[in-house]
Amino acid sequence: MPEFDVHEHRHALKQLRDTGETSLWENREGLACPACGEPFDRLFTTTKPSTRFPENDGSRFCLVRDDDAVHLFRH
Ligand SMILES: [Zn+2]
Repeated sequence: MPEFDVHEHRHALKQLRDTGETSLWENREGLACPACGEPFDRLFTTTKPSTRFPENDGSRFCLVRDDDAVHLFRH
């Protein structure tokens, strides 16, 4: 099962936003997405049961879920 621990990869991620329940990170070092294995641009993590995303420009997304949160990887 793919997992992604933000704290394990903290050195490679720059935090852009944090509301307590959601956080947004920039991938500074080309970390691979745990879902598809390709580097991602941004990571959005949420512990909320439902979350609305802003419109996007047609980017591709991958989704990884663990016990605590859902991680959305934007490519
Ligand atoms: Zn991916």
